[in-house]
Amino acid sequence: AAAEPAAPSRPGLLSRVIGRDTAPRRVLDDEMLESLEDLLIQSDMGVETAVRVTANLAEGRYGRRLSVEEIKRALADEITRIMEPVAKPLPLYAKTPQVVLVVGVNGSGKTTTIGKLAAQFRAAGKQVVIAAGDTFRAAAVEQLQVWGERAGVPVMTAPEGSDPASLAFDALTRAQAEGADLLMIDTAGRLQNRADLMEELAKIVRVIRKKDPDAPHNTLLVLDATTGQNALSQVEIFQKLADVSGLVMTKLDGTARGGVLVALADRFGLPIHAIGVGEQIDDLAPFDPEDFARALTG
Ligand code: GDP
Repeated sequence: AAAEPAAPSRPGLLSRVIGRDTAPRRVLDDEMLESLEDLLIQSDMGVETAVRVTANLAEGRYGRRLSVEEIKRALADEITRIMEPVAKPLPLYAKTPQVVLVVGVNGSGKTTTIGKLAAQFRAAGKQVVIAAGDTFRAAAVEQLQVWGERAGVPVMTAPEGSDPASLAFDALTRAQAEGADLLMIDTAGRLQNRADLMEELAKIVRVIRKKDPDAPHNTLLVLDATTGQNALSQVEIFQKLADVSGLVMTKLDGTARGGVLVALADRFGLPIHAIGVGEQIDDLAPFDPEDFARALTG
């Protein structure tokens, strides 16, 4: 039961510069392109991507007199073109249990996203196991247990401060024994000590590979869309810490900064597997490039 595919609620991004749909036609000149570029940058698209998008927009259209509707649609088309290749649901492999390692900074929405994903896979008839791998954060473990109850999925925990890798190993052992389809492993998100975190993540991977040389099959990076351009540096950091295979963008409900998704797609090309659109269990939606582009351009 996925929620309506939502998109950043910044209606009228363009309306503020080029007027309402009923406004007179405007010439797509340098001045207009510059205003559009500024707006895209304000939406957190970043300079590089904004410049590329407006350059693409100008191609074949420069100097033409266009209606507001035409400009909006053209811009939405350019954004859709960048986003389409990255819109991919989390792939499901024939081989089970599929191991999904979930990484991201604290507060990005890891726990919530794991709960939402677990509920979706349960609803699809999949058997899911969750491992509460952030063993140093008691609150995270408790929250994951609450999500597990809501989703009807067992959550494996370990004593506070114990080795996450050994929990991951036990969880995979159990998932294999029970013939589960999916194991999701939560991880710590303390970036204060990156060397420790890197070693912790590497050890989890090393240990679960003793049970399954192909694990983890996915490494999901959860990013908070409201952090704007920070999301870009988080991808760079986590790509060094782990073998990131895809993204979930959270908190796209009510953010003015959805443009960062375009920058992410443009810069990294990592698949966006889902978007978080609220705090409830159903508030995880597939990423729809066209809806997103239309909502962003307004
Ligand atoms: P973690 O520290 O990475 O595990 O983050 P949590 O899952 O605990 O989420 C941090 C906060 O963000 C919580 O208050 C969540 O309810 C909230 N949150 C997570 N995802 C979303 C989302 O898609 N939309 C909104 N509005 N809030 C979210």
